[in-house]
Amino acid sequence: MRTTDAREETLHPGRLVSSIVGGRRPEDAPGGRISSLNPARTGDVVAEVALGDAGTFVEACRAAREAQKEWASVPAPIRSNSIKQIGRLFEANKEPLARLVTREIGKTYTESLGEVQEVIDTCDFFTGEGRRLYGQTVPSEMPDKQLFTFRVPVGVAAVITAGNFPAAVPSWYIIPALACGNAVVWKPAEYSAAIGDAFARILLHGGLPEGVVNVVQCEGPVAFEGLERALEAGLVDKVGFTGSTEVGREVGALCGRHLQSPCLELGGKNPLVVMPDADLDLAVEGALFSGFGTAGQRCTSLGTALVHESVYEGFLNRFARAVGEAPIGDPTQDVLYGPMLGERFAERFEGWLDLVHDHHTLYGSTGTGRITDANPREGFVGEPGAGIYCHPTIVSGVTEDDELFNTETFGPIVNVAGFADLDEAVRLSNAHGYGLSAAIYTRDAENALRFRERNGAGMLSVNNSTSGAEAHVPFGGNGRSGNGSRLSGIWVLDQFTRWQAMNWDYAGKLQKAQMDVIDLPADPDFRLPD
Ligand code: NAD
Repeated sequence: MRTTDAREETLHPGRLVSSIVGGRRPEDAPGGRISSLNPARTGDVVAEVALGDAGTFVEACRAAREAQKEWASVPAPIRSNSIKQIGRLFEANKEPLARLVTREIGKTYTESLGEVQEVIDTCDFFTGEGRRLYGQTVPSEMPDKQLFTFRVPVGVAAVITAGNFPAAVPSWYIIPALACGNAVVWKPAEYSAAIGDAFARILLHGGLPEGVVNVVQCEGPVAFEGLERALEAGLVDKVGFTGSTEVGREVGALCGRHLQSPCLELGGKNPLVVMPDADLDLAVEGALFSGFGTAGQRCTSLGTALVHESVYEGFLNRFARAVGEAPIGDPTQDVLYGPMLGERFAERFEGWLDLVHDHHTLYGSTGTGRITDANPREGFVGEPGAGIYCHPTIVSGVTEDDELFNTETFGPIVNVAGFADLDEAVRLSNAHGYGLSAAIYTRDAENALRFRERNGAGMLSVNNSTSGAEAHVPFGGNGRSGNGSRLSGIWVLDQFTRWQAMNWDYAGKLQKAQMDVIDLPADPDFRLPD
C-alpha cells in the first residue's frame, strides 16, 4: 500500500483528508470517498474524505500497539512536555481551527473559539498532571512490609467521537490518554473529518512519536467491525465512545463480550427547573442558550423546561419572545445559532416534529421545520436557501407521557412542562431515564440542595444553564446518558490508567496476610465506675 508522511501537508480549502496510520497516510480509500460540506453553504466542499475500512482500523490498532510500550517508557513529566507543546500549538492555531469548526459543522464562531479553548485548557491541565500521576504508599498490616500503588497505562485506547464537539470532546480522551502513556486510535465523526484531520496534525507536530496517535476516517458501522476485529486480536485495551445512546449500547455490549469496561458518554434529555422564586429573566437566558445554542445539538442541550405552575405563563411568554427575537443564521455572524450539523441531522429533526400533538402549543418562530425561502423566519441572518437551517420550536403543554418528553430530540426544540411542587419537579427531572445534566433556577438554597441530592444527573447547575463544562471538573452521565464513567480533571485518569498494587516485604521470612495476625490484647470487661 502506498503512503505519504502525514506531517507534510498544509490545510487548504477542499483538500483531501484521509486516515493516519503509524504517521503515514494510506493513499487508497478502501471505504470509499465522501465530501464533507459546509452546512451553512452546502456548495462549499470543506474536504474530500478518503475513508478507511475495518482493515484500516485494525492496522491503526496494530501501529498503536507497536508504539505504545516505548511511549509508556518515556517518563511522565517528559510525556507531558509534549502535551504542553501540543497545547501551545492549539493556542497558536486557535483561530484557523475555530474557523474550520464553524465552516465544517456550522457552530457560531464564538462557540468555535470556546471549543478550541477547551482543548487548550485540557492540555494545560494534563501538562501539570504529568508531574503528578500519583500513586500511594500504604501501611501494611504486617511489620517490615510496605505497600505501594502505581498508575499504569492501559495500553491502546480506541476512541470514537461524535462531531458536535469535534475538538473539545476528542481532547478529553486523547490528551489524558497520551499523558498517561497510552497510544490512541481515534475515529472522528464522518461529518467533522477535516476538523479531525487538522486536530491530528497539530498532535503530530507536538513531538509525539509515530504511531502513538492514529486516526481512522471511516463510517460508524465500519469502525464497529474494525473495533470488533481489533478486540478479538487483543489489540485494544480501552474503548472510549461519545455518541448516541443507541450506538453506545452496541459498543458497550461489544466491550462487555471482551471483558472491557468502556467509557461511554451518551445522549441527554436535560431538564431545567424554574422554581416560583427564580429570577425569570436569568432562567430565560439560560434556557435560550442551552436550548438553542449549537441549534440544540449538544449532549447537554436543554430538553424540557420544568416550570412551576405559578410562573408558567410568565416564563413561557418571556421565553417565546426571546426565541422569537433571537438572530439565527450565518454562523460567522453574531447569531444565537447557525445551521444543523449536516443533512441527516435536519432530516431526523423533521421526524421529531411528528411527535408534536394536538394538546401541544408551539411558539418561537414564524414556522417549523426547515428555514427556507418558502418557509422563512423573520429576521433570518443570511441566505436560508444556501444552508441547512431549522426553525427554533418551543412546545408547551408537554407531559411525561409524551414521547417528546422521553426522547432526545437533538435539534432546536425545547419542551415546556408544568409542576406543582419540588417533589414533582424532582420526579419529572428524573423520569426520562437520562442522567447527564440538570439545572435549577431558584433563590432558595434549600431548593437547590434538595434538588442536587435527589436528581440523578452527573452534572448539576444552580442558576446556570444545562450546558457548559470546564476542563478540570468531572464530565459524564448516568442511566441512558452513560455508564458512569467520567472525563476531564483527575477523574479521567481512572479511564486511562489501571491501579497496580505492590507489596515489598523486608522481614526476611514469609509473612502471610490474615494468618500471621498480631494480637493487641484488650480487656473487654473494662467499665468506667458509675
Ligand atoms: P452517533 O452515535 O450516530 O455517532 C457518534 C460516533 O459514532 C460517530 O463517529 C459515528 O460515526 C460513530 N458510529 C455510528 N454508528 C456506529 C457504530 N455502529 N459503531 C461504532 N461507531 C459508530 O451520534 P451523532 O449523531 O454523531 O452525535 C450525536 C449524539 O452524540 C447525541 O446523542 C449526543 O447527545 C451525543 N453526544 C454525547 C456527548 C457526551 O459527552 N455525553 C457529547 C457529544 C455528543
